Amino acid sequence: MLRLGHRPGRDKRVTTHVALVARAFGAKGIYIEGEDENILKSIEKVKNEWGGNYFTLSFIKNPKKLVEEWKNNGGKVIHLTMYGININSIAGTIPDLDNILVIVGAEKVESWYYHAADYNIAISNQPHSEVAALAIFLDRIYKGEQLNIVFGDSKFLIVPQKAGKKVIKK
Ligand code: SAM
Repeated sequence: MLRLGHRPGRDKRVTTHVALVARAFGAKGIYIEGEDENILKSIEKVKNEWGGNYFTLSFIKNPKKLVEEWKNNGGKVIHLTMYGININSIAGTIPDLDNILVIVGAEKVESWYYHAADYNIAISNQPHSEVAALAIFLDRIYKGEQLNIVFGDSKFLIVPQKAGKKVIKK
């Protein structure tokens, strides 16, 4: 994952939610443009209690360099944008899951990214949210399997209940 244009203060909650969705639904890590220690603390706390220690979070200053290096190393870059090709039109053509960098923006994404991306994918051609776009994109590529993820290194385990909460300390 690459989260562009993070504005500390204003985007703290949304960027944290992008990172939480990425971790919970199977991404290996997230790069965030900018710097915000509060997000790092929130994600570390979740990893510590609920597992997924392999999930990495890094703050970067030069996201264009990351995109170029990703492509030079043979990876593919997918930019989620309402202006892209509707995911319903391209389902089945998205490459190797291990090697993709998924980009979401905050406010306006520079046109450079629209041209650098291998795919500009729209999760409907309506404006909504980077959190929703990411969740639906991951659902499509993992075909629902991401909802069964269990992190072996968690301290707690939820026992699903029809009513109430049951959590086991491991
Ligand atoms: N009009 C803005 C733009 O320039 O794209 C929308 C910004 S939106 C608040 C923030 C991010 O959410 C976008 O950069 C994009 O990654 C994601 N997003 C919003 N709607 C989307 C959609 N329909 N499909 C895919 N991604 C979307």
